[in-house]
Amino acid sequence: MNGYFDHNATTPLHPAAREAWLRASEKHWHNPSSLYRDAGIASQQLESARERLGTLLGAEAERIVFTSGATESNNALMASFERVAISAIEHPSVRMARKALELPVNANGVVEPEAVKQMIEAKRPALVSVMAANNESGALQPWREIAAICREHDVLFHTDAAQWLGKLDAANLGECDFITGSAHKLGGTKGCGFLVLPAEDSRLNFMRGGPQEGGRRAGTENYPAVEAMVTALEAITPRLDEVERVQTQLRDDFITAIRARFENLRVISESASRLWNTVLMVMPAQQNLKWLTALSRRGFSISTGSACSSGKEGSSVVVSALGASAEELRRVVRISGGWETMAEDWLALAAAFGDAFEELSRGGRPQ
Ligand code: PMP
Repeated sequence: MNGYFDHNATTPLHPAAREAWLRASEKHWHNPSSLYRDAGIASQQLESARERLGTLLGAEAERIVFTSGATESNNALMASFERVAISAIEHPSVRMARKALELPVNANGVVEPEAVKQMIEAKRPALVSVMAANNESGALQPWREIAAICREHDVLFHTDAAQWLGKLDAANLGECDFITGSAHKLGGTKGCGFLVLPAEDSRLNFMRGGPQEGGRRAGTENYPAVEAMVTALEAITPRLDEVERVQTQLRDDFITAIRARFENLRVISESASRLWNTVLMVMPAQQNLKWLTALSRRGFSISTGSACSSGKEGSSVVVSALGASAEELRRVVRISGGWETMAEDWLALAAAFGDAFEELSRGGRPQ
């Protein structure tokens, strides 16, 4: 059984990414900025990975800057604008990076394109930032429509696609002016990601130092991690339609099974389109850390919201934005499966929730 249900926090390394990383580390470990032949080859390999990523995203390779991950990409972008409007459910690496105008979400935890239009007309932000898919609820945001509205109004648009990439097709993301991505959410390694920006944009200057990444982000490039990230995305992209079809059914069967046991369970954003792997639930009883530990003892890894705010009970950004009470917030749990999660894993998890509840109702772990 595979009890790992925290893929939105991080994914295991994809086998193709592991192979690509080892090959790149063994053969092309040279500094791409050095001037001898082997370094030139490493540099060419890096540029070829940039082209391949551009093809997957529908964006020209010159627009891509490799970074240490989505947090760096989001922080760098947020620091570069005067007036920014962000949604109420952005990841902390966007929300905490600066003070911003806030776009509300509807009762489904989704940003309405009309709200973006009104915000632009009333406040004229220089940049609008709405994530592609939410990390807690999995709710898909109408980023394509919002990008079109921003374009019409001559306002730049950013989407944090850290949770979209590797789960849904990325080919139209290039329509956004700025895109954030993170390798470890899609089968790559930790500490690697990217920011796509307009080719002519010279405003962003993430790190000062050497002339790497066209002078936009100093620091020796992590070619092996970039190669692993791009290889993982190439390996999974052709499978995504099939994975979505199969996994959506398994996720919904899980919801049916757990609801049969817990009638008053609330699934957040249930009537919205959601990532095929994610279920954010408010349990009818017991605190989330108790659920998490009782399930962990049974071999299941789940989360209490987003990993970035875990350890703090009741920290769900989405459920807060939906106006839940502090008490409800303490009952939020997030389940996030992966490409290889099987029907029996989902059903075993539903059964384990039932067992865990018996244990917790008896007052904890049997002696
Ligand atoms: N944005 C979103 C939507 C995320 O889910 C995460 C990871 N929790 C991040 C940004 C931060 O990514 P990283 O770990 O690469 O800094």
